[in-house]
Amino acid sequence: MWPGVALSLEIMETLYSKKSKFQQIDLYQTRHHGKMLVLDGIIQLTEFDEFTYQEMLAHLPLFAHPEPKNILVIGGGDGGILREIGRHDLVENIDFCEIDEDVIRVAKEFLPELACGFDDSRVVVHIGDGNTFVNNKTNAYDVIIVDSSDPIGPGEVLFQKPFYQGLKNALKPGGIIATQGESVFMHQAWVVTLAGITRELFPVQAYASIQVPTYPGGSIGICMGSLGPDLIRPARQISHSLQTQLKYYTPKMHAAAFVLPYFAEQMLKG
Ligand code: SAM
Repeated sequence: MWPGVALSLEIMETLYSKKSKFQQIDLYQTRHHGKMLVLDGIIQLTEFDEFTYQEMLAHLPLFAHPEPKNILVIGGGDGGILREIGRHDLVENIDFCEIDEDVIRVAKEFLPELACGFDDSRVVVHIGDGNTFVNNKTNAYDVIIVDSSDPIGPGEVLFQKPFYQGLKNALKPGGIIATQGESVFMHQAWVVTLAGITRELFPVQAYASIQVPTYPGGSIGICMGSLGPDLIRPARQISHSLQTQLKYYTPKMHAAAFVLPYFAEQMLKG
């Protein structure tokens, strides 16, 4: 993913290491960042900073939508995105489609603070390819969140235009998508491609950048498309009780995430 670039974390113990049907799954105990999940050699999350990614990928689309009731999550086998969606009382149903059940099993065994997302009775788990799943859905969801791994291996299909067309078809009128959008520093070609696809397909499009210290480059993007609602401001107020459960997302942070450095602004114009 990052030729010539490496990030080092001191590992105290390997807790799990096995190849599943789809990918190599490794789970480590690090000295400073808690447990770390790695798929095919690529860091997916650490306990130290997972909240930044999970909160923003979930709460940006959920707060941009005026009434998010039916939600689809693709990928995200660790459960962290489900944990964040679960904080929204308006949400009625959450379909969850993950290709690799071994990731879910490993998260339930080693990452209970993320996998608690699966305890929500609104969640229905589907094991399979997210692209196939979404292609069988029309007019079904208010918000779709794609918490994918990277555009190599099983996640590759989730970075292609036909998949985004499928996401659009699966949305209800006024629906919103939010997808893992790689990094404006490390993956400029992917960012340009994803922003271009969403610009072609959606009347409203925006790209947010958030800080994740353990992703190379220290940041990751969230690519968003909307069939109606504005994306860069929350459509609803956050309650005090929900705000106090969070560490990264605030209404100010919602708007700020879409303010990009000049080079990224220019790049995203295509
Ligand atoms: N970066 C995230 C974080 O900070 O929490 C974690 C990413 S999550 C582990 C990515 C998941 O996407 C993996 O569990 C992987 O199995 C899943 N995935 C990859 N390709 C998929 C596909 N085609 N359909 C559904 N899920 C897929």
